Amino acid sequence: MTKSVSDHLAGDYDLVIFDLDGVVFLIDKPIPGAAEAVERLRSGGTSIAYATNNASRRAGDVAALLTGMGVSAEPAEVLTSAGASAALLAERFPAGAPILVVGAEALRAEVRDVGLTPVGSLEDGPVAVLQGYGPDVGWKVLAEAALAVRAGATWIATNTDRTLPSPRGPLPGNGSLVAVLRTALDRDPDVVVGKPQPALFRTAATQARARRPLAIGDRLDTDIQGAVTAGMDSLLVLTGVSGPADLLAAPEDRRPTFVAADLSALFRPASGSRLPGPAGAASDEADGVGAEGWRVTRDGDRAVLDGSGDPVEALRLLCVVTWTGVPVEAITAGSGGARELLRSWGLPGSH
Ligand SMILES: [Mg+2]
Repeated sequence: MTKSVSDHLAGDYDLVIFDLDGVVFLIDKPIPGAAEAVERLRSGGTSIAYATNNASRRAGDVAALLTGMGVSAEPAEVLTSAGASAALLAERFPAGAPILVVGAEALRAEVRDVGLTPVGSLEDGPVAVLQGYGPDVGWKVLAEAALAVRAGATWIATNTDRTLPSPRGPLPGNGSLVAVLRTALDRDPDVVVGKPQPALFRTAATQARARRPLAIGDRLDTDIQGAVTAGMDSLLVLTGVSGPADLLAAPEDRRPTFVAADLSALFRPASGSRLPGPAGAASDEADGVGAEGWRVTRDGDRAVLDGSGDPVEALRLLCVVTWTGVPVEAITAGSGGARELLRSWGLPGSH
């Protein structure tokens, strides 16, 4: 873990890798402050990268989408699971090899661009099946994919996100379509490329020649676990999927270095966002000495939150106890403000 030497969190890093949905935008609208954060990092000399599991858009399309939202982005700064999957296939198979593509046109284009041949049926003799999200994926191509894998083709999934955010609520994501083949074949894909695998983050760091990268995400099970696996520091922002209750219950391999309400924390002291480290080297806050008006009192495997103040401060104090043995259900409220906060997080201790 990087020791803080700068007066603001981002100052300790030479590359910031952003997840997109839930961090930079929400479905189709920019998250307030994201464009400004990117500009401020750039003007301070920090490199920027964007890493997305979504395999239905190409890097150039993603850069154009971001730019259209007022967030500056170059195609070379964007890493998609589609592009990374095609690159992996190109390493493994000779030029022109037939690849059965289950997914969007963007995924077929990525395969074509690395010199391989996208095909659609078992009769074309595919050496691999590449499966990514596409709104038109149906039974017929899944059936061809099942036959191809059974015949010995390598099965590569761009990502296994179970859901895809939409204005109407979560929709089936590529993980749900991978589950169709998993069920039919009674086995897992040979390779999953996207987060939580570390490939996108590592490529971003290599491309930027970064020595101290920071990954920012909204999901513990993809972004943060990916950063932990890649050996990078990470920041969880609470503007997307994972919430306070998820963070409190996070297993060790899904614990971020920092948590913040939003990206503005990048420009404040790191100490205000830092979570207890993996060695259990919790700060002196662990023994019930609170900050910002909150206090956590631990009694064995139970803990009481009382006081009032900034919700993120309460969350950081509570992580100190839940990450060292207090079950989330054993947190109770000792003040009206605490009760209100725990209820807003959906925790049982509020009643
Ligand atoms: Mg996200």
